[in-house]
Amino acid sequence: MSDIRIVLCRPSHPGNIGAAARAMKTMGLSDLRLVAPQRFPAPEDAWMATHAADVLAAARTHATLTEAIADCAAAFALSARPREWSPQVLDARAAAARAVALDAPVAFVFGSESAGLSNDELFACQFLVHIPAAPGSSSLNLAQAVQVVSYELLMAQGTAVPPMRSEKLATVDDIEGLYGHLEQAATANDFMAPGSKLRERWRRLFSRVPALEREEVNILRGLLKSLLKK
Ligand code: SAH
Repeated sequence: MSDIRIVLCRPSHPGNIGAAARAMKTMGLSDLRLVAPQRFPAPEDAWMATHAADVLAAARTHATLTEAIADCAAAFALSARPREWSPQVLDARAAAARAVALDAPVAFVFGSESAGLSNDELFACQFLVHIPAAPGSSSLNLAQAVQVVSYELLMAQGTAVPPMRSEKLATVDDIEGLYGHLEQAATANDFMAPGSKLRERWRRLFSRVPALEREEVNILRGLLKSLLKK
C-alpha cells in the first residue's frame, strides 16, 4: 500500500481534503498529494481528518499534476463522466487489481469538486477509471470517491480477511468412513429404502464443502456411532 499515491487536483473544500485523508488512513494508505489546492492548510481539513492528522501533515503540495506523478510508473484518472476520447477505461475494481499487480509506485488522480479533471490532466494518466453508480447520479463526493478506491485497493491486496485457522483436513479415507457410518445408521433405522439415491445425495452434499476438517468428520462419526449403539 506504500506504493499507492492519492492525488487531488485543485480541491476547493479543505473539508474534503481532510475527509480524503481519513478515508485513506482507514484503508492503510498514507501518501496524499495535492495539486494547487484552493485553501490548504485550513481548520476544516483537520476537523474532517480526525485521527488521520498524520496523513494530512505528510501531504505534499505540487504546482502541477505532472510534477505530482513524476515518480509513478502509472496513473489512474478518476472521472464519473465518460469521455469520447480517453485513455483505456477500467472500473474501480479492475483498476485496483491492475495497480496492485504492477507492484510499482502508482497514482490515483481525482478531479476538483466543481469541474472534475481537465483533458490535459486526464491524458497525463494511462487509465480512466469509473466508479459504477446510478445513471443520472453518478458523481460521488470527492472524499467518498477516494474511500471507494482505497477500499478496492485494500481488497485487491487479498489480505483484508485473515485465512481461517488451519486445522488438519479430512482425508478421503476419513470421509469414506463417514459415508460408511451414515449408511449403517440409515439401514439400521430402515431409513434407506432399497434403490434409494441417499448414498449419492450425501456424497453430493459433502462434495460442496470445500475443506472438511478431520475433527468435524470425527464429530459426525462419533454421533452416528452413539446413536447406533442405542
Ligand atoms: N463535477 C465534477 C465531478 C466532481 S466529483 C465533474 O463533473 O466531473 C470530484 C471527483 O471525484 C471527480 O473529479 C472524480 O475524480 C471523482 N469521482 C466522483 N464520482 C466518480 C465516479 N462515479 N467515478 C469515478 N470518479 C468519480
